[in-house]
Amino acid sequence: MQPFLHKFIIGLTGGIGSGKTAVSNWFATQGIDIVDADVISRTITAKGSPILTELQKAFGADIVVGGELDRVALRGRIFNNPNAVARLNAITHPAIRAGIHKELSKTKSPYVILSVPLLLESIKGEDKGLTALCQRILVVDVPVDVQIKRASQRDGQSQQQILDIISRQIDRATRLAYADDVVDNSGDLEALYAQLAILHDKYLTLVDKSL
Ligand code: ATP
Repeated sequence: MQPFLHKFIIGLTGGIGSGKTAVSNWFATQGIDIVDADVISRTITAKGSPILTELQKAFGADIVVGGELDRVALRGRIFNNPNAVARLNAITHPAIRAGIHKELSKTKSPYVILSVPLLLESIKGEDKGLTALCQRILVVDVPVDVQIKRASQRDGQSQQQILDIISRQIDRATRLAYADDVVDNSGDLEALYAQLAILHDKYLTLVDKSL
């Protein structure tokens, strides 16, 4: 079911380091409301949250350091362990989904960007996952070598660590096959923004037509 029929929601996705934040920051400068699953995920696992307590029970006391979730430790705990991943998802996904619905309901701009790193990975067979909320899917696309370079520079992780994460995400060709719109972020930010300006006009026109 589409619970936000009155809203025009663009699902924004892309692999690690592809530029989703750069894209959503630009849309925000145009007055477009952004709902970011990463931000919500951090909020629901913040210091003192019930979800953090549940995670600690499931994965051990040492995934919390100084009251905060140690994401690297948690990642280590679930690495190559599908049962642990399923457990993590069972604890966090309902709260993330509820958070997304809450934030979407507060939005006011002509259309909304819903940024979800694993948007397409949330599709499970007949279940359209979070794409069920979206009118269109916008993919930020970069070649893998650019992804590795930018993400490792940003996070201080090794190229191999970034490659491991990329290999667990949907592959580039499959991601592109789901896209209604694609922005190429292999160039500089100016080149990215020029593409986004065209898309912004297109989305405003589509919203007008759908009214
Ligand atoms: P993640 O999913 O890993 O959080 P992301 O898709 O949100 O990543 P960003 O954080 O926007 O990606 O970009 C990754 C890094 O690359 C950042 O350090 C950002 O400043 C940089 N970056 C993004 N776009 C460009 C660009 N066109 N040119 C140079 N650097 C860029």
